[in-house]
Amino acid sequence: MDTLDMSVDVAIIGGVGFSALSEECKKIVNTPYGAVRVYFSDVDGRTVAMIPRHYWTDEHTPPHLINYRANIWAARDIGASRIISTNSVGSMKGHSIGSFFLPDDFIDFTRNRVSTFFDNNTVHVDMTEPYCSQIRGCLASTLRKKGVEYSEGVYACTEGPRFETRAEIAMMSMFSDVVGMTGVPEVILAREMELCYASICTVTNHACGMGDEKLTTDELVKELAVKQDALLEILSETIRYLPSERDCDCSSATSGARL
Ligand SMILES: [Zn+2]
Repeated sequence: MDTLDMSVDVAIIGGVGFSALSEECKKIVNTPYGAVRVYFSDVDGRTVAMIPRHYWTDEHTPPHLINYRANIWAARDIGASRIISTNSVGSMKGHSIGSFFLPDDFIDFTRNRVSTFFDNNTVHVDMTEPYCSQIRGCLASTLRKKGVEYSEGVYACTEGPRFETRAEIAMMSMFSDVVGMTGVPEVILAREMELCYASICTVTNHACGMGDEKLTTDELVKELAVKQDALLEILSETIRYLPSERDCDCSSATSGARL
């Protein structure tokens, strides 16, 4: 596959434990924010790019240091107008471990991340519907068709890399359903670029204070490994049935947003 001639339709930003659909075709995409590794695969004639969120090098980058702007810039640069991200989350509402979660809104509890591309002019991007309705609909319909347990709701994003305290979870659970460390600012940056963006999260654990056990990364990684094949199948099928035309408001997200 010649990456230079490819017309990329969808980019997947993969989280911890997520492998590329194929590792054969890799390209380094240079952006103003740094270089990004991108892997290309073919899904029923559509070129899909996979960006491993945590890996610009062979070392795993923690959530608070991920170069979110580089990843989103790279997706746009290779021509992807749509992004599906995979994230792992802790449940604050008793979701089954191993079930899937589609965020329809988010609350940002991060502190030290750059969450905009607009440093030299003022753009107040609308966030009424942060996640693309068309991709979310396709993901939900794939999950229903496959009879896979999933739910929808509000994603709370924390700074990390530490897990949350009991008090933080008690507070966040009043306004949100799951908690993770990587969904923001990705969703904001994609919106600023007028790209369609939706996320499919794997529920890997119950949040602090929601279970009896101490939280460990072992249980998180173990659950992600169990779900890896199912997730790849869901993504492939969603991409297969995603209409080629965008039927949502994402492409005009910044109209009327500039001061
Ligand atoms: Zn959209």
